Amino acid sequence: MSRVVLASGNAGKLREFADMLADAGIELVPQSDFAISQPPETAVTFIENALAKARHAARETGLAAIADDSGLEVDALGGAPGVHSARFAGAHGDDRENNARLLGELDGVPAERRTARYRAVLIHLRSADDPAPIVAEGTWEGRIAAGPRGDGGFGYDPLFELPDGRTAAELPTEEKNLLSHRGKALAELRRRLDALHDRAGRG
Ligand code: IMP
Repeated sequence: MSRVVLASGNAGKLREFADMLADAGIELVPQSDFAISQPPETAVTFIENALAKARHAARETGLAAIADDSGLEVDALGGAPGVHSARFAGAHGDDRENNARLLGELDGVPAERRTARYRAVLIHLRSADDPAPIVAEGTWEGRIAAGPRGDGGFGYDPLFELPDGRTAAELPTEEKNLLSHRGKALAELRRRLDALHDRAGRG
């Protein structure tokens, strides 16, 4: 088992990541187990934010690290809220206010132009100075509904409508984890880590 630090303190994410990596020979340790700070997310791309978080965690702990960054991209808004998804309605905004702002910005935009996607980027670094990070991405296509439906999930899920007409907040958790951007990015990361270990094993 190799220990890898997860650059996130979110308990839900730790469970989802640990499940996906359980039999990959990886013991995932949350960053909160080490008294280290999280760097500010100041970049404008998901990749840069995830890389900064992973590098910081690897440097502070001396372990390999995994970090993620994710958000919602709305085509009619030029890709916003993007890396600002968590704070779309302002520093103290919550999910409800973020969703209200999103509906406001799309007021009058017809259904066919309300296309959007969730994107998740995961980075794995073998060390803080790893010159070749693994970058795994997943996307989930949908459109922004006229109003919220469902009470599962979190964030923009009540407004994120799938091609079958359900919103992400109307899916059971297991189904969301299979279809979602994060689920796809995790599956891709798992494939890439298995390949890395196979190559290392062959010497
Ligand atoms: P972070 O990757 O934890 O920084 O999350 C960024 C933000 O993107 C979240 O606070 C949500 O607003 C949004 N987001 C990312 N993934 C999801 C999802 O699966 N459902 C709903 N909102 C999401």
